[in-house]
Amino acid sequence: MLKGKTALVTGSTSGIGLGIAQALAAQGANIVLNGFGDAQAPQAAIAAHGVRVGYHGADMSKLAEIEAMMAYAAAEFGRVDILVNNAGIQHVSRIEAFPPERWDAIIAINLSSAFHATRLALPAMQAAGWGRIINIASVHGLVASAEKSAYVAAKHGIVGLTKVTALENATTGITCNAICPGWVLTPLVQKQVDARAASAQVSNEEAIRQLLGEKEPSMQFTTPEELGALAVFFCSPAGNNVRGVAWNMDGGWAAQ
Ligand code: NAD
Repeated sequence: MLKGKTALVTGSTSGIGLGIAQALAAQGANIVLNGFGDAQAPQAAIAAHGVRVGYHGADMSKLAEIEAMMAYAAAEFGRVDILVNNAGIQHVSRIEAFPPERWDAIIAINLSSAFHATRLALPAMQAAGWGRIINIASVHGLVASAEKSAYVAAKHGIVGLTKVTALENATTGITCNAICPGWVLTPLVQKQVDARAASAQVSNEEAIRQLLGEKEPSMQFTTPEELGALAVFFCSPAGNNVRGVAWNMDGGWAAQ
């Protein structure tokens, strides 16, 4: 379905970004990966789908590096047809103890980077008359939790950015939508499980049960594969007129 298209997925060396990159590659899209850590294994996993794969290690908190990544994608692949703004970090602390530099980093990586990648990707999408921008927000783009001020602010912000991007391109073939996952068991969440297990002196399994029990009625993690399938739907012809939605996949979290 996506043969000949190129998808750039930020923060795709791990977790949800890698799951979405895999799902888009399975539909035939060429993939530009981004993120820290080992890029070899993710590149090999994508190449196994028989598509072209590139990698740029831009730090998404740095404007010059985002610009270099977008220039790399244009030079190597022609243009970015599908942009998935996924890179994100978390910090858990009450506001009065929240380190200002963690606030700045979360706003830069979870929100401003999506603005920069979007503004740099749009002109080529507009020239082509087709594009898909998918912002990985969170259920925390819809509701709040204590001790996540920067994350909740950034995720509510990216839901707003999604709507504006959708509206400004509403008469074109470019759509922009947000995905709002509940808990997904990635390294980002395993850190929160570990912290809970340590502070409550409980096992990993009990910490997971408590984590899910507080917020997620299904008592199940959403998987990167499920999120990848939703991203593929947004890229499909059936998604042509889905514009500006914030679609939660959260086991009922935001329904409460
Ligand atoms: P993860 O930690 O597994 O992956 C994060 C990815 O972002 C990695 O590839 C990492 O290298 C990359 N990254 C981090 N900082 C970066 C930077 N400065 N520049 C470039 N890349 C950077 O996390 P994840 O759980 O897969 O999270 C992915 C996205 O999904 C995030 O935006 C997160 O907020 C969102 N999300 C996650 C959950 C969850 O429960 N895991 C729920 C809702 C939303």
